[in-house]
Amino acid sequence: MRDYDAIYPLDKWRDPDYKVMDKFSLNGKKGFVTGGAGGIGRNAAAAWAEAGADVAIVDIEPKKGELEALAAELSERYGVRVVPMLCDVSDREQVAALKTQLVDELGTVDVAFLNAGVNVPGDDADEPYEVWRTTIDINLTGAYMTAQIAQNIMREHGHGGSLIFTSSLSGHNANYIAGGPSPVAAYGATKAGIYEYARYLGAALAPYGIRSNVISPGYVWSGIHAGRIDDAVHDAMIDVVPMKRFGCNDELAGALLFLASDASSYITGANLQIDGGYAIY
Ligand code: NAD
Repeated sequence: MRDYDAIYPLDKWRDPDYKVMDKFSLNGKKGFVTGGAGGIGRNAAAAWAEAGADVAIVDIEPKKGELEALAAELSERYGVRVVPMLCDVSDREQVAALKTQLVDELGTVDVAFLNAGVNVPGDDADEPYEVWRTTIDINLTGAYMTAQIAQNIMREHGHGGSLIFTSSLSGHNANYIAGGPSPVAAYGATKAGIYEYARYLGAALAPYGIRSNVISPGYVWSGIHAGRIDDAVHDAMIDVVPMKRFGCNDELAGALLFLASDASSYITGANLQIDGGYAIY
């Protein structure tokens, strides 16, 4: 009979060197965040940097100035390396170049937040092909391609890691608000696809010590809703949220640190709803 109590320690807390808070550290880890200039992405990057990781913040060419300023601010504030990287996640060649850049600049990748996403105007029942196609290319194919480079780097370098994908409440619920400002027909399809893809990877990559999890935000005041909704729409949106408010970027950052770090070492294939209870209804 094996000594299962030795395999699965019963009371690690009794070890004087053991501290549960240490599990949240990302000291010495390397990570990247796509959509890194955006509200949710840059707050995740800040949390990872504060926890000790070197981080690449990845976004598109038009965000170059913003990304460079953000990288400088985060490096200065947290004393780690934060590197801006330009990449359109829907472009295969750019994603291949990103892989090379990540290895050249950071050495490896331990944690990856596959988060870049768009909600294209006109994404409703009669949407044109171009709206459907752009949404699929960026949200779903982009998540696939950037996850591929992350897990390939981890496996090539012989270590495990953590992948975190951004799904959405709209990936689990049609989130149909007739005449609403941001319909989510293709968007919801991509977010549902991301959810199942991430779960599949959770099973497939477990033998390599790579975990794969999903967050599903509800309404988050990330910056993208500003100017797109008025007070009446805001109030109609939060009416379906038990907490009766939007979430803030920092309320996602804690979960993103948890899922990246060893604090979630036995969690894979999970979906964490961060939605003020919206999914309950
Ligand atoms: P955001 O617009 O602030 O951030 C998205 C970022 O992705 C932007 O910086 C944008 O430039 C970048 N991006 C867009 N296309 C890209 C591409 N082709 N390649 C690389 N980067 C690209 O919005 P956010 O709220 O921070 O959104 C982050 C993620 O969270 C998205 O996937 C979004 O769908 C998801 N989400 C947001 C909410 C919400 O209420 N804010 C709710 C559910 C899910």
